[in-house]
This record gives sequence, C-alpha cells and structure tokens, in this order.
Amino acid sequence: MQDNSRPGRHKESRRPQFWRVAQRCCQIAATVDVAFFFLFHLLGSPILAWINIISVTMYVVAYFALSTRRNRIAIALIWCEVITHAAVGTVMIGWDSGFHYYLLMFIPALFVSMSSRPAWISVACLWGFYVLLDVTMRFVAPLQPISPNALLGVHLFNLTVVFAMFSYLAFYYMSLVTAAHRKLGRMATTDSLTRLYNRRHTVHLAEKEIARWHRNPSPLAFLLLDVDHFKPLNDRYGHELGDRILSDISTVITGALREQDFIGRWGGEEFLAVLPDTDRDQALITAERIRLAVAGTFWEFEAENLSVTISIGVSEYGANEDLNTAIARADKALYLGKDRGRNRVELATA
Ligand code: GH3
Ligand code: MG
Ligand code: MG
Repeated sequence: MQDNSRPGRHKESRRPQFWRVAQRCCQIAATVDVAFFFLFHLLGSPILAWINIISVTMYVVAYFALSTRRNRIAIALIWCEVITHAAVGTVMIGWDSGFHYYLLMFIPALFVSMSSRPAWISVACLWGFYVLLDVTMRFVAPLQPISPNALLGVHLFNLTVVFAMFSYLAFYYMSLVTAAHRKLGRMATTDSLTRLYNRRHTVHLAEKEIARWHRNPSPLAFLLLDVDHFKPLNDRYGHELGDRILSDISTVITGALREQDFIGRWGGEEFLAVLPDTDRDQALITAERIRLAVAGTFWEFEAENLSVTISIGVSEYGANEDLNTAIARADKALYLGKDRGRNRVELATA
C-alpha cells in the first residue's frame, strides 16, 4: 500500500509519467556514460574514464530507486551525478568539452518535478553554479587537456546527446499536454455514465445544425427519448442497476442511429437525438427502430427478466423556430406517448 502520510511522497506520486521518463533518462544517461568510459580510455584519460563507471553505478541505483518509488533518493543521485560530472569534466578538459550543457537539461525537469517556488530557487542555484563554472574556466587552465581534435569530438558528442535528450523531453512534454488537453475536452463534452454527449454539448451541436439549416434548409428532426417507469426500476433493484441500464440503453440507442445522427444525455433518464437531413417520416421510422431495439433487448437482473422500454417524442424542425421550441414540441409528443400507455413513438404537431 502506498504511504501518503509523508507530504514528500504524496507530492512525488502526482506525476507518475514524469518519474517514468526520469527512469528512461537514467537508462539513456547510463548508456552514454558507458560510451564515455571507452572514449576516455581511447583518449588516454583513465581518471575521466573511471568517473564514468561511478556515474553508471549512480544511474543504475537511481533507476532502481525510481522503480521502488524512492523518488527523492533518485533525484538526489541524479542531481549529484550531473553536477559533479559536468564540473569534473569541465575542470579536467575545459569549457569546450561541452559537459556544462547537461546542466541546462535540469531546467524543464525542475519545473515538472516540484512546485513552482522550490523550482525557481533550484533554477537560480543552477544558474549560479553554471555562471561560476563558466567564469572559473576563463581563468583556470584545464587540468588534463586533450588534443584539439579529441576535444572537438567530445564537444560534438555531448552536444548531440543533449540535443537528443532535449528533443525526447520536449516530445514527451508535448504528448503529455496533448493527452491532457484531449482528456479535458472529452470530460467537458461527455456524460461520464453513458459516455454520450452531455446536455451542454448536445445543445451546442444542435444549435450548429439549426444554423446550417438557415444557410441550407434541409429537413432536421429531433427525438426526445425517456425510459418508461424508470423510478420503480431504481426503487426495486437499486440505483446501481439503474445506472447500468442507462449505460446499456445508450449503447442500444446509439447502435440504432445512423452515422450522421448524434445523441446526448438530456438529463436523468432522458436523451435527445438530433437527426440531420431527416424529415418527419424518416424520423418516425428511426424512432420506431430505436424503440424496438430497446424493447427487444434482453434485460435481466439476478436471473429475473426485466421489462425496459422507452417512449419517444419526434419533432421536425420548423422554419424560424428556435431549438427550445422544437424540443418543447418533441417533449409534448413524448408525454402524449406516456399518456397513451408508454413504449410508443409520437409525432409532435407543428
Ligand atoms: P415515466 O415512465 O413517466 O418516465 O416514469 P419514470 O419513473 O421513468 O419517471 P420519473 O421522472 O418519475 O423518474 C425518473 C427516475 O430516474 C427518478 C430518478 O431517480 C432516476 N434517475 C435519474 N437519473 C438517474 C441516474 O443517473 N441513475 C439512476 N440510477 N437513476 C436515475
Ligand atoms: Mg421516465
Ligand atoms: Mg423523465
């Protein structure tokens, strides 16, 4: 069980995707450091080569710390590794080695991994360290210089790795934002129980159809659907079964509609279907198809057969009418259907 009693732990588990990408970065960084081990051996810098083995060890430990959600330890290890490695690499072979670029990679990661105040403070410290290293290397000669060609090679290697890692992180952040945006959009327009459009979005789409009608008049029909005697069902078998029936009815109704039609949850056990390019006769046929589909579905609860039916009011959009009026006419027809015994389709009068 997760321990949320410690505030740090709770905060860290807020962005699980970030910690997964941190793990991936540990893998990449450890691989790069193995490459550096061989590179520096070839360049005749055994001290730098062995520093990379320490780095690999730190990344391996950080990787396993992240997989057991010891995120603070992992972050401390990664910080320690990157700062020490950047400093040692720069002091040993010079500013032109490009080891300092790795420090810049912390900037986006800091803002994702902590709240804004500590992130700003950490960025300020990072800036101070970066400037200090930069200024120092203008006055201090590298302790273990390598040939200009080798230096260029190390520089290009570091630059390439930093470019690749930044691109990966930018791509990752972008995918996160896009996914979050999509999810928000879905949540704002969808009813969570039935997965149909919610009332607000249904109105929005219906208004668009009416606007289209005004540009290019073609028949437009509305169906108002209401589950019959739903309250007794709820009262007798429980709200949970009621929810399940609402969700299943939505699937049955959607299956009986055509591609260009759409349906939303109007409220409670009521639905509104909008049928573009559909006159009253076609709308009546569609409504009857839906009614039969619901009545013909086998509904049961604990081996008991349930009778679930719907009544439907149909209205065809009339010239210069607003949406509320067209729906009010469908509502009137619906209640006529209720009065006439339910499990019926009724057409609204103009
Ligand atoms: P009628 O045939 O006249 O429509 O009768 P009815 O019982 O279906 O109509 P009524 O308006 O009396 O009751 C509607 C019921 O729908 C009452 C309410 O508890 C139930 N209901 C509304 N929304 C939900 C929901 O999201 N889940 C469940 N389980 N029940 C709901
Ligand atoms: Mg009802
Ligand atoms: Mg109702």
